[in-house]
Amino acid sequence: MNQPDKIKIIDTHAHLTKSDYKSDRDQVVKRAQDAGVEYIINVGYNLKTSIASVELAEKYDSCYAAVGIHPHDAKTLDEKTFKELEALAKNPKVVAIGEMGLDFHRNLSPKEIQIEAFNKQLLWAETLNLPVVVHDRDAHQATMDILKEHSDLKVVLHCFAGDAEMAREAKQRGYLLSIGGPVTFKNSKHLPEVLKIVELENLMLETDCPYLTPEPHRGQRNEPSYLPIIARKVSELLTPLTYEDVCRVTSLNAKKFFNIGRIDPAKIAYQIRDSLYLNITNRCTNACVFCIRQKTDFIKGHNLRLEREPNFQEVIDAIGDPSKYREVVFCGYGEPMLRLDLVKQVAGWLKSKNAQVRINTNGHGNLIAGRDIIPELKDLVDEVSISLNAGDQETYDRICPSRFSNKAFAALLDFAEGCRLAGIKTTVTVMDMPGVDLELAKQTAKDLRVNIRIRHFDVVG
Ligand code: SF4
Ligand SMILES: [Zn+2]
Ligand SMILES: [Zn+2]
Repeated sequence: MNQPDKIKIIDTHAHLTKSDYKSDRDQVVKRAQDAGVEYIINVGYNLKTSIASVELAEKYDSCYAAVGIHPHDAKTLDEKTFKELEALAKNPKVVAIGEMGLDFHRNLSPKEIQIEAFNKQLLWAETLNLPVVVHDRDAHQATMDILKEHSDLKVVLHCFAGDAEMAREAKQRGYLLSIGGPVTFKNSKHLPEVLKIVELENLMLETDCPYLTPEPHRGQRNEPSYLPIIARKVSELLTPLTYEDVCRVTSLNAKKFFNIGRIDPAKIAYQIRDSLYLNITNRCTNACVFCIRQKTDFIKGHNLRLEREPNFQEVIDAIGDPSKYREVVFCGYGEPMLRLDLVKQVAGWLKSKNAQVRINTNGHGNLIAGRDIIPELKDLVDEVSISLNAGDQETYDRICPSRFSNKAFAALLDFAEGCRLAGIKTTVTVMDMPGVDLELAKQTAKDLRVNIRIRHFDVVG
């Protein structure tokens, strides 16, 4: 599966150290990468496979290890084994303890021994401040009871097999549920129910390979490159959430849970050259054909795709000391005038600190507010930069379809003129893109008696 634009995803539970992969392990890891599996957490289940997991993680950049003793092997957890595990866990690629837990289905170790080994590893994980990977089969109540005594731990219930009630309790406790191949099985009844209760924020994805192969490969060996099948099925069950949503959010969950990879948070304030830009909304009243928001979340390496819009305090905190910058600019990755009250509040605070304030806008502020807002901005704003984008309405309407349709262009001209008359330094901008008559735009600016800046198409920020 070689897709050019693979969506990244993380397999949070694999057993690639098993002999099933003896002959083609390299290819399996490579295939996973080709399928968009950014990271694989390879999970040990006894001392031998814990050692092998660490070796695997050292060999492959994309692999990390969990070390621990599975309930089946609980009886092997003597002092010597524990000491060896402790030494192993010092390896920086060990990101979790497990798998551990209870398996009352097969009872390959006596119940009391399983419980003892589970508790011992939970305490150990607490001292290491590492998350735990929990295996629970036919032992839901006992597992949840034991975990309750360890409320500080980050917990994933791997290959979640509990019912809706258990999912609700797990969610309430902040555990993650990891969903695997069984979600694709035709007879899977409980998982669709569980997915109705939990949020995407509570989920991670796993293959548990070589076991639990998803449809349509059921019956064959499982491998991490099948993880997108699981993600796809989860997204179908969570519609209207999309496959991308599932991949993005579960990957983020896994990165946070295992403390791996790089998470690039959206920026509220970001610096380019000596200006500080403020990103307060990603909404806009236009849908310009060239709008960078449709192409990327990043401007000059800054992630601007806000998860939610910041409030006054968050903006102030993000600014820090405004005197460090030549100017502070309400940026145009969205239309700041949609948040006029916040703009006024922040600009007022900035003026009290003697900062230079500029607003980048599409010039629709009066239409948005339904009144002339220029008197409200007059003393708060030093400069406005208005996206003129065209020298005539016909071109503007074509390349900048607006919620205000044919009123938009005239309104921005009025806004530009009004700002100038109010004593605000006013600049209009236009891009040197095909189909835009720059001379006409220059003449328009001249008629308005405002400055014009030609921006280069393809240059952002
Ligand atoms: S006005 Fe600016 S933010 Fe809005 S759609 Fe056009 S380019 Fe994008
Ligand atoms: Zn397991
Ligand atoms: Zn497992």
